[in-house]
Amino acid sequence: MKKQIIPNIVVLTVTFIIGVIASIDFLKMRQPDELYPSVSLTKTGALSDYFQGIKGTSGDTRIYYFDSGKPGASVLLLGGTHPNEPAGFITAALMVENIHVISGRVLIIPQACQSGFTCTDPFEGYPQFFTVETQSGKRKFRFGSRVSNPLDQWPDPLVYFQYPSGQKLSGFETRNLNRNYPGRPDGTFTEKVAFAIMNLIKKENIDLAFDLHEAAPEIPIINAIVYHEKGEEIALTAVLNLESEGLRYSPELSPKNFHGLSHREWGDRTQVVPFLMETSNPIQGRLRGRTNAKLILKGVSKEYKQAQESGAFRIVYEPSGEPLKRRVGRHLQGFLAIIDAYNELHEDKQVKVDNLPGYSDLMKNDVGNYLR
Ligand SMILES: [Zn+2]
Repeated sequence: MKKQIIPNIVVLTVTFIIGVIASIDFLKMRQPDELYPSVSLTKTGALSDYFQGIKGTSGDTRIYYFDSGKPGASVLLLGGTHPNEPAGFITAALMVENIHVISGRVLIIPQACQSGFTCTDPFEGYPQFFTVETQSGKRKFRFGSRVSNPLDQWPDPLVYFQYPSGQKLSGFETRNLNRNYPGRPDGTFTEKVAFAIMNLIKKENIDLAFDLHEAAPEIPIINAIVYHEKGEEIALTAVLNLESEGLRYSPELSPKNFHGLSHREWGDRTQVVPFLMETSNPIQGRLRGRTNAKLILKGVSKEYKQAQESGAFRIVYEPSGEPLKRRVGRHLQGFLAIIDAYNELHEDKQVKVDNLPGYSDLMKNDVGNYLR
């Protein structure tokens, strides 16, 4: 009997120490990422202003308003719908810190799925943070999970029935914000967040909306602009203009029977014309190899290079890598091209922005140069 006590105490002590270390690690991810808005900022608000049901939860998230005070179109931009797709969040952050709005207004939500920023996906070995060098020092940002934290919504069903379409998806997708639109006020945690975003789009009379994403190099829809049929002319004009600048984006029409996604439900259920943009991000892929913060920033993977050279897969991967600056540059240039195309087609309702770097600026100067 006595022989067993000492090993038991040792095991309990070790378990306790591991538990404390893990808890400290988990808690670090609850610290918000600080942003430093440009002088054009007119107001900050919270997503819960549009649906009180998420107030005080980690589904609430900050909204930055840039109102020129001059008439024009209203634009909404979402980063961080999927917190493991950092180019979306960083593009939104960079816009918050630089944008000047000359006519119309721009609303930015850098971390649409705030809950997903408080954890990483299990079994992936993802880093929790990555650091960007800026002119005034290093800034650390969170790299989160594709979906809401299970502490906010649990357990997952075996099969997720999307509301209201009834479309069946894998149980895990029940926590994926971009499968939960239009959401509902008495639904799951993630449905409530989606519901709040839908309310914002309606209440603020948003004309044009963006949802910024990334995906693994082997996913078919990469370096793409996904558009709702309402936005076809804008999307195709933008893609042509980008092509003439030497940048290729594939225009993808949002499938009508694929429910719960921003580019489908926002466009079907509100006045807004939505666009979803994707870049190629090796850290999300199955062939990525060593998984660390360097892969987020530099996007260099010899495994993807080999896979592409083998010709066995259709892979969108630049041989020199897919660095964060290229992915953020593509999002920014795509955003600017869509705004320009919109303005060409809506002379009476313009949205004009200034002081945003484009693709070549990002490639030359890197991301940190545009973060304060
Ligand atoms: Zn995504």
